[in-house]
Amino acid sequence: MTQLESARKGKLSPEARTVAKQEAISTKKLLSLIRSGKVVIPANPKHKKLKAIGIGTALRTKINANIGTSPYKPSLKQELAKLSVCEEFGADTVMDLSTGGKLDLIRKKIIQSTVLPVGTVPIYGAAVKKGLDNLGEDDFINEFEKQAKQGIDFATVHSGITLSSMKLSKKRRHGIVSRGGSMIHHWMSLTGIENPFFKHYNVLLDIACEHDVTLSLGDALRPGCIEDSTDKPQLNELKLLGKLAARSVKVGVQTIIEGPGHVPLHEVEKNLKLQQKYCKGVPFYVLGPIVTDIAFGYDHITSAIGGAIAAWHGAAFLCYVTPAEHLSLPSLEDVKEGIIASRIAAHVADIAKGIPKSRQWDNKVSDARKNLDWESLFKLSLDPKKARDYRKKSGAHGKECSMCGEYCALKVKKCG
Ligand code: SF4
Repeated sequence: MTQLESARKGKLSPEARTVAKQEAISTKKLLSLIRSGKVVIPANPKHKKLKAIGIGTALRTKINANIGTSPYKPSLKQELAKLSVCEEFGADTVMDLSTGGKLDLIRKKIIQSTVLPVGTVPIYGAAVKKGLDNLGEDDFINEFEKQAKQGIDFATVHSGITLSSMKLSKKRRHGIVSRGGSMIHHWMSLTGIENPFFKHYNVLLDIACEHDVTLSLGDALRPGCIEDSTDKPQLNELKLLGKLAARSVKVGVQTIIEGPGHVPLHEVEKNLKLQQKYCKGVPFYVLGPIVTDIAFGYDHITSAIGGAIAAWHGAAFLCYVTPAEHLSLPSLEDVKEGIIASRIAAHVADIAKGIPKSRQWDNKVSDARKNLDWESLFKLSLDPKKARDYRKKSGAHGKECSMCGEYCALKVKKCG
């Protein structure tokens, strides 16, 4: 039984109980939100170590970190080290996007090793195993089913790109930038066959229902530069994803919808409003959004700006972006930087949205700062080691820091 089916029966699953406690929300309200498809709890029963989290309306904004090998760097050891960084620095979920090495083994090890919900993009596994050009329709579905049986908690399926919609992307400045989307586009162009994730959506739903895999409906036609933002291909696909999500929710399959991508600042709010209109409250999972295209090397910052605005206006789930975005496979340090940037974006939005406990965290920091209570400040920090190292390196020995020294405003005069 899925979390959604359980909520519809009025049952409080152990995972829902955990989420209600974490979020300081009543179980009655949580079950009502799950029933309406506005909250999901990605929790495949086969993922034994899982610590459940909820994603959606009225809950703390969650952040995802992508890890996974590439054909250039197929090291399981390195990706497991990244997984540890994800847990240490507070990612809420992790996606294994591996495309190099022994994919089934890598996925198995990641699921076995982590308490975080694990997501994947099954088309990668199918394409790497057989070669994209050799895939049959069944291979798309079979790969999804295999991964569902392995214990993945959520999966990106690009069900919204179809034979009729793929032509729309030709007029764009940047075409298709979704890796999974481009794979399906290529396969449909080659075979002339409809996207199996769209054509056989009912079969996907049956599998997702059996294993309680949350579907993350991927936006194959998301904009890859701000010039393509909010264009016809993107919105056309979003409308279709909204209809597919309604079908999922109706049959008890937990579903979220993925969104852009590259969006200029002044269009972020509009994107959220359109998603709410077309998708009726199904949680929105945004990939950034990156608000300018010029800052490669610093795209954890451009995406944190976009992510904060998006979450403020209703996005429930932010996919992190690391400084290595558009440049290389991220290092351990890149993963850490991406997580911290994304957590800042989520947190500032949660303050604006009045999410329980978020503002109190700032108030505790404020009290510790006022009292020059460095130990408490470090403990409350997103990155205690970095904060501690700055103070140590500065050579400050008094209560104040090295910025103002003896003229420390907090030390000289206690005002108020
Ligand atoms: S020295 Fe200046 S910057 Fe440092 S804690 Fe005091 S007032 Fe703040």
